[in-house]
Amino acid sequence: MNDKMEEECGVFGVFGSPDDETADLIYSGLLTLQHRGQESAGISVQTGKGIKTHRGMGLVSEVFNSLERETLSGGSGVGHVRYSTSGDKSISNAQPLVGHCKLGDLAVAHNGNLVNADIIRSLMEDGGTVFQTTSDSEILLNLISRGASSGSYDRAVREAASAVKGSYSTIILTEDRLAAIRDPYGIRPLCIGKLGDIHIVSSETCALDAVGADFVRDIAPGELVFIDSSGIHSEFTEKGSQQHTCLFEYIYFARPDSVIDGISVYKFRYTSGMELFAEHPVSADAVVGVPDSGLAAALGYSASSGIPFTHGLIKNKYSGRSFIEPSKHLREQTVNVKLNVLKSEVEGKRIVLIDDSLVRGTTSKRLIKSLRKAGAAEVHLGIVSPPVTNSCYFGIDTPYRSELIAAGKSTDAICKLVGADSLFYISPGGVLKASGKEKGFCMGCFTGIYPMSYS
Ligand code: SF4
Repeated sequence: MNDKMEEECGVFGVFGSPDDETADLIYSGLLTLQHRGQESAGISVQTGKGIKTHRGMGLVSEVFNSLERETLSGGSGVGHVRYSTSGDKSISNAQPLVGHCKLGDLAVAHNGNLVNADIIRSLMEDGGTVFQTTSDSEILLNLISRGASSGSYDRAVREAASAVKGSYSTIILTEDRLAAIRDPYGIRPLCIGKLGDIHIVSSETCALDAVGADFVRDIAPGELVFIDSSGIHSEFTEKGSQQHTCLFEYIYFARPDSVIDGISVYKFRYTSGMELFAEHPVSADAVVGVPDSGLAAALGYSASSGIPFTHGLIKNKYSGRSFIEPSKHLREQTVNVKLNVLKSEVEGKRIVLIDDSLVRGTTSKRLIKSLRKAGAAEVHLGIVSPPVTNSCYFGIDTPYRSELIAAGKSTDAICKLVGADSLFYISPGGVLKASGKEKGFCMGCFTGIYPMSYS
C-alpha cells in the first residue's frame, strides 16, 4: 500500500570500454539509477564468445560483489534495475533478458510498458514462440530474435520498434553492437554520453555524471541509435514522433541532479514551488518539505513567499525497502519510522507542508497528525502536482482509480480526510510554467488524456 507512484526501471549501456572496466562502469551507472527500481538488477557483457549475464533479486550492491563483476569481462555491456509494472516480481523477469538467435546472442534491457503486449504475445504464441517470462520486455527480445533471421540486427530492431506500442526506452546488446530505441512519444527518458572513446546510453544524466562521462544529447522520441566499431548512427521510426515526456519524471521519479530533455529536474521542482506560492499564497511561520522530492519545491515556495524554510521532517535513510510491516498497528507507524518530526522546528508554528503529489493520501494524513502532535499550530498542505485522478499505462505502478484520493472527491473533502487546515494543488498551467515549455508532456494521470490509446 505504498502512497507514491512507483518508479519503473533504469537502463545503462556501454560500448567500447576496456574489457575489465565494462562491468564496473555499468555497476556504477546502475547504483546511480537505483531510485528507478529496487527489486532486481542485472548486467550482461559481450565477451567476444557470446554474452555473459549475472542477474539477481535485490539492490545493485546486493546482487553484485567485485568478484562477480570480475567474471563479467568484455568490451560492451548493458545493465538494468527493475521495479515490476508488468509481470511477476521473480528472478525469471529480472533483466537484461538474454536470448540466442541466428546472428548470435542478444540481451535486452527495457524501461517502459508495452500496451499491446497481450495481443503480440498471443499472436507469437499462436505461431509457436515460447515465452520464458511474464514480462512484456520478452516480446521485444523475441521480435528482435525473429527479425534477425533476415540476417540484419539493425533491420530486426527497426521492425520490432514498429510492431510495439507503448513506452519503451530500450537498450539492445548484440555481439558486435549496442542499439538504443526510444518510443515515438519519448515517454521515458534516454540519453547518450561519452567517456573518452566509450559510448554510453543511460536512463538519466545523473548516471553519466557518476561515471565521469560527458552528456552528449538526449535520444529523441522515435529515434533508433546504433553504435558499433564504425561509430554511431541514428534513424527514426516510420511512426513519426511527438514528444510526450512523462511529467511525473520531473515531479517525483527522476533524481534532482538529472536533466531530461533539456529541463533540469531540480530547477523544475524549485520553480514549481515558486509557482505554487504565486497561485496559493498562505500566511505561515515555516515551510517544510516532505523529503526527498518535496524539498526543492519547499525551497522554491519559501524563496517566493519569504517564509523561512526549515527541516521539520527528518528521513531515515535505512528504513525503505527492507522495512517489514507485520501488523495493522505497525503499518500505522510506518511513516514514523521513515519520517520523524523535528519538534523544535514546528512547535507553536503555522506550517506550510509541501509534498510532490497526493496519491492515496495515507502518508499525508499520518504526517499531519505527527506535526500536530509535535505542537504545530496549523498545517497547510501544498502539492506541487495537479490532483492525480487517473491510472498510468506507460510503465508506472499506480493504484486503481478507486484508491486515488483525488478521484471523485472535492479538494475540501480531501482536506478534511487528511486533517489539514487547508489543501491546495498547483494547476496544470502552473506546472507547465515551471517546466518552461507549453507542451511536450504526458499528463495522463492528471487529465485522463493520454498520448495514445492504451488498449
Ligand atoms: S500517465 Fe502520468 S505517470 Fe504515466 S506516463 Fe503519463 S504523466 Fe507519467
